[in-house]
Amino acid sequence: MMVIETDVLVIGAGPAGSTAAKHAASGGAKVLLMDKKSEIGAPKRCAEGVSNGGLESLGIEHNPRWITRQLDGVRLISPDGTNVWLTSDKVDLPEAGCILERKVFDKYMAMDAGRAGAEIKIKTLATSMERVEEGFLVDAECMGEKFQIQAKIIIAADGPESRVARWAGLKTAVKPKDMESAAQFEMAGVEMEDNNCIEFYFGSVAPGGYAWIFPKGDDIANVGLGVLTTNTDKTAYDHLLDFVKNCPATQNAQPVELNIGGDPVGGMPKKLVTDNLMVVGDAAGQVNPLTGGGIISGMTGGMIAGKVAAEAINEGDLSENKLKEYETTCRAEIGDSINKYLKVKDYMMTLNDDELNSIADTFKDSDFEKISTAELVKKLIKVSPKALLKLGKVF
Ligand SMILES: Cc1cc2nc3c(=O)[nH]c(=O)nc-3n(C[C@H](O)[C@H](O)[C@H](O)COP(=O)(O)OP(=O)(O)OC[C@H]3O[C@@H](n4cnc5c(N)ncnc54)[C@H](O)[C@@H]3O)c2cc1C
Repeated sequence: MMVIETDVLVIGAGPAGSTAAKHAASGGAKVLLMDKKSEIGAPKRCAEGVSNGGLESLGIEHNPRWITRQLDGVRLISPDGTNVWLTSDKVDLPEAGCILERKVFDKYMAMDAGRAGAEIKIKTLATSMERVEEGFLVDAECMGEKFQIQAKIIIAADGPESRVARWAGLKTAVKPKDMESAAQFEMAGVEMEDNNCIEFYFGSVAPGGYAWIFPKGDDIANVGLGVLTTNTDKTAYDHLLDFVKNCPATQNAQPVELNIGGDPVGGMPKKLVTDNLMVVGDAAGQVNPLTGGGIISGMTGGMIAGKVAAEAINEGDLSENKLKEYETTCRAEIGDSINKYLKVKDYMMTLNDDELNSIADTFKDSDFEKISTAELVKKLIKVSPKALLKLGKVF
């Protein structure tokens, strides 16, 4: 059987994997990036919102080919329909800068990896893997042809429920209570109050999560929701059908695409590395637990892992101890914010529809430009005393 040798094998060409491949190749390593998909980025499983600051921090310049909409703000809607408007120039919100076209964005990120020197194999599935003296030997399959890839370092970027990390013995499996089950339509004919703002709907409309409308064009939007299966007997898809039927914005809208997927919202697992292997992106729980957004945090993880991989190859040290530099940097750069949002999510989960309504009522006329975080929390505690218990140490 044919055996291909490489320094670094990145399994999964989502945003995290392509970013890891780009930085490992830029650092001088021989890199192979593989994905089972025949078209990188498709199908999408994403509402496609990212922050402008997030893209900037990764050194990625805006490209009109993959940006469908620049956003001005956010509309939060409580179960009784009370609105709280936040404008993005006043409040720094994650996933609220622009809306991507992931099918194009993901391809562009992979192209960047290719331009940096990575070899790309599409429609190539990793089927199993064993540890060998030099690293790992991966069984792969492309268009019916079986072959093996021997890699000194593997970067597991294979998305939620990573099999690659598990093959290496890491405990990255996500508990049902930490896996948001999501369903989304891309729709045309959506009538939003302001189609430069993203909308979040809270409460029993999406138990354990929230529903969203993210505008992509004048009347085109991603309309979706995430639920925790531990909090409802219905599927995310059934909740979505109810939402679309009842929401005023989607009464006259028609779907052109359905996306179903899982989103790990329990934070990063205890261990992200072992000898010769690092886990990045959704596979490593690098997702904002409150919003479910994982593009920027996953790419940040990928960037750090790619740089450490190149260094490790150059130094000839592929040990867990060396690769831990990735884990330490990652926890310092994104771990704190993930933990903070985890606490906010835990608090949000305790709120029933009535409590959400009274919180929205308190904040509906707030001028967020003039209100500091401390004042905001004070106001929140007044209407929801348990916020003190749950959020007291966070802010
Ligand atoms: C409905 C929904 C809405 C979302 N909305 C947003 C949002 O608005 N903003 C945001 O920031 N995030 C959002 N997310 C999360 C975001 O989509 C993910 O965090 C992001 O895609 C993670 O990137 P990744 O590279 O880690 O994994 P992925 O994008 O999942 O890529 C993993 C890749 O690995 C490949 N792969 C898997 N197994 C193998 C194998 N054995 N061999 C070869 N290839 C393999 C897959 O084909 C895939 O291409 C949303 C998620 C869902 C489900």
